[in-house]
Amino acid sequence: MPSVFLKTYGCQMNERDSEQVLRQLQDRGYRPVQSEKEADVVLLNTCSVRDLAEQKALRKMGNLRALRKKNPGVVLGFLGCMAQRRGAALEKEMAGVDLVVGTQKFHRVPDLVEQARQARLGGRPSFLAEVEEETGSESAIRDHVFAPRQVTAFVSVMQGCDMHCSFCIVPTTRGKERSRPIAEIVEEVRHLAGQGIREVTLLGQIVNMYGRRIPAREGKSAFVQLLEDLESVPGLDRIRFTSPHPRGMKPDLIGCYGRLKKLCEHLHLPVQSGSDRILRQMGRGYTADQYLRIVDQVRQACPQIGLTTDVIVGYPGETDADFAATRKMMEQVDFDNGFIFRYSPREGTRATQETGGEVPEKVKEERNQELLGLLTRRAEEKAKQRVGSLVEILVEGPSKTRESRLTGRSRQNRPVVFSGGERHLGQLLTVRITESTGFTDYGDPSILG
Ligand code: SF4
Repeated sequence: MPSVFLKTYGCQMNERDSEQVLRQLQDRGYRPVQSEKEADVVLLNTCSVRDLAEQKALRKMGNLRALRKKNPGVVLGFLGCMAQRRGAALEKEMAGVDLVVGTQKFHRVPDLVEQARQARLGGRPSFLAEVEEETGSESAIRDHVFAPRQVTAFVSVMQGCDMHCSFCIVPTTRGKERSRPIAEIVEEVRHLAGQGIREVTLLGQIVNMYGRRIPAREGKSAFVQLLEDLESVPGLDRIRFTSPHPRGMKPDLIGCYGRLKKLCEHLHLPVQSGSDRILRQMGRGYTADQYLRIVDQVRQACPQIGLTTDVIVGYPGETDADFAATRKMMEQVDFDNGFIFRYSPREGTRATQETGGEVPEKVKEERNQELLGLLTRRAEEKAKQRVGSLVEILVEGPSKTRESRLTGRSRQNRPVVFSGGERHLGQLLTVRITESTGFTDYGDPSILG
């Protein structure tokens, strides 16, 4: 039985795509292995969001070629975003690679791997590249691989993005916005719940704009219709989604918080900047005030919501005043957590043509540290208020830092670590918070049943 090693770079979307590819290869008789050294097929599912991510995958592939000394038949392939962006050019950039498979061609991987293996084993290696658009490819990410006692799963509901934010390569690598039909997604989630999955995270680059071309029903967008239909799936306890766009946070969706029992009280809503001038240059399509209004409405609908965000510091031309506006926005919203990114130019995006002037790396780093400091201080202060409270968690498995402990997530998406036993795995439990480091809480097992 041939073996396969698949390494994934980048986001949850990529993890989900890799899961699909592995499942298809398993169905064809391939055995997944934990190390490239044992594999007959080595695939890298790549990320293009930053140049650094591409360089990492290229370096890795450069080293993988040494595997051929021991195993001349080993097949090497690039999948995903970088494969899509660079396409057939990778044949010249990285001699010895057999496969380049783009983001709309994941379902073709088993056939292409087979062809490449036959060619290698026959001593006639060839280069195969498939990166064309394909109608209906958004529905190809639908099968799962289950780990023992797994209780959470990602579900891809749409692919691509038509927003074209100035800094983002995603519309190039993932193509135009394409949504799967509601009924197909509901069927997939029913199947997952039947396999013991209790929480799903719906994935899409602008997930809350899912199904923009599906007609509204009783004034409700397609995304709200989807959430409502998933609410009635038996056995499913929790629904999350990531990442939404502020422009898609309309009253019908905001009204779902608190109304739909399974929808978790967590919203990761990328703000990117608090400066209207920078938001305009980024092409985000909202102002700082409009973002703040959305936050107010969400908090009114659901006071216990956990709010997290993404921010870019050092966008071309970002002045001290622009940064001060971002800092003010962070203070006003009082996020529970956030990812702060230092802007780095991405070839092929509009932002590289900005004439406003590059922000020095040192300044980007200072701004990055300032926002991280703000988030950490507030997280520590809020953590004190949580100590003593009761929290519902879904127990996912052993803690990453100490295997003897278990970890789960609150509905606000905060990790909670506690000393539990085998019987708690996969359960929804209520624990009392006894301690917190700010971003991780610790629970008291004594109230457990
Ligand atoms: S909405 Fe998100 S994925 Fe789409 S272009 Fe903007 S940042 Fe990229």
